[in-house]
Amino acid sequence: MQVERARWEPSAAATEPIREIYLRTFRQLRPRTPLPEVRVEFRAYANANAQIKLEHGVLLVRLADTLGPAPLEIMEALAEILLAKLFRHPVPAASNDRYRRYLNRREVRNNLDAVRQIRGRKRMSPPQGRAHNLEEIFEDLNRRHFFGLMARPALGWSPQASRTMLGHYDPSHHAIVISRVLDRAMVPKLAVEYIMFHEMLHLRYPVEHKGSRRRVHTKDFKEAERQYPRLEEAKAILKKLLGTNQPD
Ligand SMILES: [Zn+2]
Repeated sequence: MQVERARWEPSAAATEPIREIYLRTFRQLRPRTPLPEVRVEFRAYANANAQIKLEHGVLLVRLADTLGPAPLEIMEALAEILLAKLFRHPVPAASNDRYRRYLNRREVRNNLDAVRQIRGRKRMSPPQGRAHNLEEIFEDLNRRHFFGLMARPALGWSPQASRTMLGHYDPSHHAIVISRVLDRAMVPKLAVEYIMFHEMLHLRYPVEHKGSRRRVHTKDFKEAERQYPRLEEAKAILKKLLGTNQPD
């Protein structure tokens, strides 16, 4: 069954107040720097997600379309978080708290739950495994690599101990599933973390379609993966233990 997810198409009138928020917050943090041009774009990220960069005098703000209906006070909290990160300031705790609470709000979560219910439950075991806890690993990576901004999808261990697919992200269930073969004390946490990080990048960088071609691991995806500290070490561990180090 196909479920058409409601998409929020922003008009210029809708993005204008958001632009103003970024200009105002920028002015507060950098009173003497000339104001950049601000561009706000909404992207069909698979998750509540946000990015910011400042290049050649343009401040580019990319927001997941799921954030489109967020109230302006939430947009303001997010602007404070993103700009603080951009300028390497400490993130104001109150803004962080307000934004996290919005992501956890009933209607925001219900939307995802409804989609999951209609599509049926994903077969997987709870995130707390025998040796590793996927929720802890997810939240730790979220803090370290995604500014804590990634809303948590469903997480679980696969029913089968697959060696050919060590992990995958299933967009229809909005779930990250990690192969049970990794839930053993002899598998160092670093190796599980790398597979989880890879799957989180699938949420962050959705599949690109160009004509009939479909690119799952985009250029941006690969570039982000290379930034992972101890990447080679993690891959080497998996190769040695399992003879493979392939996430999906
Ligand atoms: Zn992949």
